[in-house]
Amino acid sequence: MDERLEIATPKRTKEIINKYGFSFKKSLGQNFLIDSNILNKIVEAAELTPENGALEIGPGIGALTERLAQEAGAVTAVEIDRRLIPILKEVLEPYPHAKVRHDDVLKVDLHQLFREDFSEVEKVSVVANLPYYVTTPIVMKLLEERLPLDNIVVMIQKEVAQRMAAPPGGKDYGSLSIAVQYYCVPELICIVPKTVFIPQPNVESAVIRLKLRDRPAVEVEDEAYFFELMQSCFVQRRKTIANNLRSRYFEGGDRTQLEQLLAEAGIEPSRRGETLSLQEYATLSSVFLRAGIR
Ligand code: SAM
Repeated sequence: MDERLEIATPKRTKEIINKYGFSFKKSLGQNFLIDSNILNKIVEAAELTPENGALEIGPGIGALTERLAQEAGAVTAVEIDRRLIPILKEVLEPYPHAKVRHDDVLKVDLHQLFREDFSEVEKVSVVANLPYYVTTPIVMKLLEERLPLDNIVVMIQKEVAQRMAAPPGGKDYGSLSIAVQYYCVPELICIVPKTVFIPQPNVESAVIRLKLRDRPAVEVEDEAYFFELMQSCFVQRRKTIANNLRSRYFEGGDRTQLEQLLAEAGIEPSRRGETLSLQEYATLSSVFLRAGIR
C-alpha cells in the first residue's frame, strides 16, 4: 500500500485533524482507529473482492474507507457529522468508486441506497467501526430490513460482541444473542485494546463477523410474536421461564394451561430463559400461538 495515503496512523490522523481544526464529539461515538493491523483484520474478515460492494457506517476521517476502496468494487460510507464530509471528500479523492453520503444511518432508506449504489456488484458487506452508543439499533436495522447482505464485519464494544455470539446456557446469552443468531452465524474475530483509538474509549472492543444465513435459523409462523415471547422470558433473568411467561401472558389467569403448553413444547417450567435454544423458543411460540395466547 502507498504509505503516503495511509490514514490509520497516529501521525497522519493528527495531521488531518489539525489541518481541519476537527474536534471529537463524544456524543457521536467518535473514536478513530490508528492501527493498520486492526484495519487489516477487519478488511480480511469481510473477504472483499473487486466484484463486491462495501457499506461503511461512520467513516470518520476515512481510515477504514480508504482500505475498503482498495479492496472492493464499490464503497459507500454514510456519515452523520457534516464537519467530516469535506475531509472525506479530500482523503478519498484517489478513489472515485468510494462515495460519501451525509446522513444518519438510522434514518436513511437502505433499500434505496442499495439500489442506487450497489446494483452493479455481486455481494455487499457492511464493514464498520461502529459508534458504540447506537451499535444494537444499527445492527438490528441491517438485519430486520433484510438487506441483500453477505456479511457484516463490525468493531463494537467487547461485551456486546460476546452477547451476540453467546451460545445458550451462559450469562451472556439473551435476547440479543437470539435475535442476531436468528439471522446470522456470528464469529468473534479478535479483541481490540483501547490503545488503538484516538481518543481512547472507556471500554474494550471486539471485531465480530455476522455471516447472513440464507434463511432464518428456525422456522416461525409469526416473527413478531416469536420475538416478543422470547423477550418476555428474559424480563427477569433470575426468574424461571414459567414465572416470566405467567407475568406476560397469564396474569391472574389459568395456571394449568401454562403448564400444559410448556409440557406440549417439551420444556420444563423450572428452566430459565437463558437455557433455551432458538429451536425451543420457536417451538414454544408456535404452541402458544396455536393456543391463541396473546
Ligand atoms: N470509521 C472511523 C474509524 O474507524 O476511524 C470512525 C469510527 S467512529 C467509532 C464512529 C463514526 O460514526 C463517527 O465518524 C461518527 O460521526 C459516525 N456516526 C455516529 N452516529 C452515526 C449515525 N447515526 N449515522 C452515521 N454515522 C454516525
